[in-house]
Amino acid sequence: MAKKSLKATKPTFTMSCKDIGSEDCGFSVTTHSADEVKKAIFAHAKYAHPEKLAGMSEAEKQGMMKKMDEMLISKK
Ligand SMILES: [Zn+2]
Repeated sequence: MAKKSLKATKPTFTMSCKDIGSEDCGFSVTTHSADEVKKAIFAHAKYAHPEKLAGMSEAEKQGMMKKMDEMLISKK
């Protein structure tokens, strides 16, 4: 994987909708905080995939959060 060195001292976090299971969705987001990435993905899922969120229990959402945390940590 190519690693670009950015001027910004803050790390960037990137996540795509594909990472959380939407194979046919091209949405992705990059921010400087892991929390912002998760918020943005959830906000996106809310309007783009409402049926996906509606079908998830609280426990499943928590599980997805955890999965995202792990992905964000491993990508650092
Ligand atoms: Zn999506």
